[in-house]
Amino acid sequence: MTYVVTDACIRCKYMDCVEVCPVDCFYEGDNMLVINPSECIDCGVCEPECPAEAILPDTESGLEQWLELNNTFAAQWPNITRKREAPADADSWKGVEGKYDNHFSPDPGQGD
Ligand code: SF4
Ligand code: SF4
Repeated sequence: MTYVVTDACIRCKYMDCVEVCPVDCFYEGDNMLVINPSECIDCGVCEPECPAEAILPDTESGLEQWLELNNTFAAQWPNITRKREAPADADSWKGVEGKYDNHFSPDPGQGD
């Protein structure tokens, strides 16, 4: 089991989650973060910290796409352990559904 970052993070990227992870297993893309499933120790402390409710345990149904995406991009994007400013328009994207199709970016973020 692991926790995964899902669609709700796209263009929100508040980064509250990275501050609490005891094993620093978040990785930064251009407009979202992912968790490295092989590093996550399933402690669950990040889940309630996310203002967008984007972090879920992979035991919930229908998250196979997100598990795969977290796994793939954790290997390509830089590690992030420190919170920076969220995007200026983050609040306007919070709660918007189905962002992946039009807004997912495979580009890496800047990392720490
Ligand atoms: S706190 Fe939530 S929205 Fe912010 S970067 Fe982490 S997973 Fe994404
Ligand atoms: S569940 Fe724990 S180990 Fe996994 S990403 Fe969240 S804070 Fe890090």
